[in-house]
Amino acid sequence: MEHRYYGLTGGIGSGKTTVADWLGELGARIIDTDEISRQLTGRKGQAMHDIREIFGANYLDPEGALDRDRMRQLVFSDPGAKMRLQNILHPMILAEAKTQALMPTTAPYTMVVVPLLFESMRYRDWLQRIVVVDCTEEDQVRRTMSRSGMDEAAVRSIMGQQIERGMRLRLADEIIHNDGDLAALKAQVVQLHQRLLAL
Ligand code: ADP
Repeated sequence: MEHRYYGLTGGIGSGKTTVADWLGELGARIIDTDEISRQLTGRKGQAMHDIREIFGANYLDPEGALDRDRMRQLVFSDPGAKMRLQNILHPMILAEAKTQALMPTTAPYTMVVVPLLFESMRYRDWLQRIVVVDCTEEDQVRRTMSRSGMDEAAVRSIMGQQIERGMRLRLADEIIHNDGDLAALKAQVVQLHQRLLAL
């Protein structure tokens, strides 16, 4: 049978990473675009040459990796800079995700985790079904604050740049409702895995 590619998305703090980890344990191959992005912008990362050319050496740390705090401050206040950064990173992330996707695997399917899947649209023609992890905005804020130590304003500012919840749900093929405890989430993940295997 032909290998299948699915997408997993959701707002910050919705539970994507948790769901992806469990799907991985169940046997799915996981490709995580956040992880790819961190590699591209790490020490000797493939994107660092272009980032230095366009933003200057000030945005690199002493190791030659992206100075994330500095870049975050810039892109929050400067939409043009954000666009320039995305123009460097997004095509590289997609290319690397597709390269990883072409590697042989014995997994029954591949799940590509893309936080901004609907925002960028580059993934729609490739991924056969899109799974959305959904929870209330209050839960998103609470979970992200306790995980990252960011304050509420910072979390809400990131949420403000992501697709609106109702729209994300309308675009979903499958929805995981992360409004209970972790055991309830796990049960849905197991069911989702079974459904994806049966497709
Ligand atoms: P995302 O990858 O979408 O940003 P995570 O999977 O990292 O979200 O989840 C954010 C935080 O919330 C993590 O610390 C995770 O353990 C916790 N979390 C997620 N879902 C639940 C839940 N249903 N109950 C309690 N904690 C949760």
